[in-house]
Amino acid sequence: MFRTRFAPSPTGPLHLGHAYSAILAYDMAAAAAGQFLLRIEDIDTSRAREHWETQIYDDLSWLGLQWPIPVMRQSERTSVYSEALSRLWDMGALYPCTCSRRDIFEAASAPQEGVPVHGPDGLIYPSTCRPTGPATEGPRPIAATLRLNVQTLLVPDEQFSFKETGSGPEGQTGIIRFSGRQVMAEIGDVVLARQSMAAAYHLAVVLDDAAQGVSHVVRGQDLFEATKIHVVLQRLLGLPTPIYHHHRLIRDESGKRLAKRDDARAISAFRLEGLTATELLEKIMS
Ligand code: GLU
Ligand code: ZN
Repeated sequence: MFRTRFAPSPTGPLHLGHAYSAILAYDMAAAAAGQFLLRIEDIDTSRAREHWETQIYDDLSWLGLQWPIPVMRQSERTSVYSEALSRLWDMGALYPCTCSRRDIFEAASAPQEGVPVHGPDGLIYPSTCRPTGPATEGPRPIAATLRLNVQTLLVPDEQFSFKETGSGPEGQTGIIRFSGRQVMAEIGDVVLARQSMAAAYHLAVVLDDAAQGVSHVVRGQDLFEATKIHVVLQRLLGLPTPIYHHHRLIRDESGKRLAKRDDARAISAFRLEGLTATELLEKIMS
């Protein structure tokens, strides 16, 4: 079954970029006589708000989209995330990290020459807390920051790939190949669990896409590099890798990409101004 999804976080209003992403996923599913799913990524309970979730439903309905209910909500899936974290912990794939943002900034400020500094989550983690000996024994620490130990998990020459039917920020398309070595150097030990969250985005997204049977992940190019870590996690957890379709980002007049806080371009603002959904679509597609 050809299945796409739109997976917004209810932490602010949806803007034109979200509308583009949702409509593209919807149209691709319709063209393939498939299914379009909605998923509410409310895993960060400190930032998710019910009124934003309500507004997501209102905005998407106004755009003319429909989706099956009940809608998957990450806040209801904590046991699934917890079980996966325990599995990864038992594999020796995770280690606890106690670094503050500042610690990471300071340790990453003296990079070796030619080594990239930024990965999909910002600064590449300088591995301060990575255990030097064998992985920590005993049960998984709860309410701790846990990182994926890519250095010991992956073999440098190990090959990974995914199929891209859209394009990455540099026009990457077709079969995208990358090695364990690249993951170590360009992505590093990403966070999979946080003190205050059931799971971090990278883990939740691969578990959710697999649970929903998503065959085609349609999303913005800003997540193209993160896809590599998703493919690694799919291999570790024995989950299928969907086809990915990354799309261009919608930018404002000055070329800046739209952000959540950019309320002026919120779908609801256009809706309240009296624009029709069709007029809004013309605005985005042009
Ligand atoms: N929840 C993410 C966001 O709002 C989308 C994640 C994804 O599409 O993989 O940007
Ligand atoms: Zn650390």
